[in-house]
Amino acid sequence: MQIRVDPDKCQGHNRCYMLAPELFDVDDYGYASHIGDGDVPGELEDKARLTRDNCPEHAITVVD
Ligand code: SF4
Repeated sequence: MQIRVDPDKCQGHNRCYMLAPELFDVDDYGYASHIGDGDVPGELEDKARLTRDNCPEHAITVVD
């Protein structure tokens, strides 16, 4: 599984980082990016889907 943040859609709500700090990094303004190459370890796949479903800007994409 891979996770991606669309920087054009992200509004820096920080919600993804609060839910899954293992998968996201945030800058000083709260804008998020995926950690590393975006690979999601198997045990974090449910969390990845949760962040996608909770991003108010629909900025997170999860690809199986
Ligand atoms: S929840 Fe969505 S809009 Fe908010 S920081 Fe994360 S990716 Fe950006």
